[in-house]
Amino acid sequence: MQDQSTTRHPYVWLICPQCGAHFRRIYRDYARSADGIRCCSKPCRKAYIRAQHPPCVYAIVHVPSGRLYVGSTAAPHERWRNHRGELTHGRHANAPLQAAWTESSPDAWEFRYLEVVPDATQLIAREQTWLDHYRATGLLFNRQPNAGTATGTVMPPSFSAMLSARQRGRHLSPEARAKIAAKARGRKWPAGRLPPVLHFTPTEVQAIRIRWANGETQQALASEFGVSRGAIGGIAIGRRYQHVPMDDDTAARVMARRIAVGKPPKPH
Ligand SMILES: [Zn+2]
Repeated sequence: MQDQSTTRHPYVWLICPQCGAHFRRIYRDYARSADGIRCCSKPCRKAYIRAQHPPCVYAIVHVPSGRLYVGSTAAPHERWRNHRGELTHGRHANAPLQAAWTESSPDAWEFRYLEVVPDATQLIAREQTWLDHYRATGLLFNRQPNAGTATGTVMPPSFSAMLSARQRGRHLSPEARAKIAAKARGRKWPAGRLPPVLHFTPTEVQAIRIRWANGETQQALASEFGVSRGAIGGIAIGRRYQHVPMDDDTAARVMARRIAVGKPPKPH
């Protein structure tokens, strides 16, 4: 019996632009492919599109008015799709941008690359530069002054008042506090912020304080532990690692050493 599938569905031979492999595709599917990107597999397709759209600082520009929303991302094509989806459904987090989108036609908007940032760890820093650059023009939709964090956002007075009124008179039972603390444990840090890096264990911190109080120099300790002299100094006098308590005996010896090296503690 003749294999009819080949006659009804002729194949096209293609070369994958990502891995270079030869592969074949049913002509009908080939002709229908909407974006013209033809890779041998889904992973290849994803890698190819990523390479075509490197990490960047971008702007969503309302062309007629020149107003714009600045952001940064490691996957621009996906980010633009997400923004558009939220805007289309009227649930974008940025209210001014959403309002402007609702009032105008989608054709009035452009997704523009402001800068390609090959090293994605630099995205937040570069976005900040662009935010600062456009802040002065008054054309920004962004309300948050700092890239990657909501810190410093100026809220309408009514909203601030509502939040503080809500907090006022909020007294938590010890059980409720314990519950919140348990939930907060293991929580990830918000995007764009990093947890503090602790180089030393409490035991090491105590050892550094005692050894400096006993006469070893900060420089010698710094060389031994591979940190700066200033870092050792901060630990030794208790300004750093304040969560590691100093017992009275150590505190007295540290104080004596400070006086001996001519740096008595400043009165508070
Ligand atoms: Zn491939």
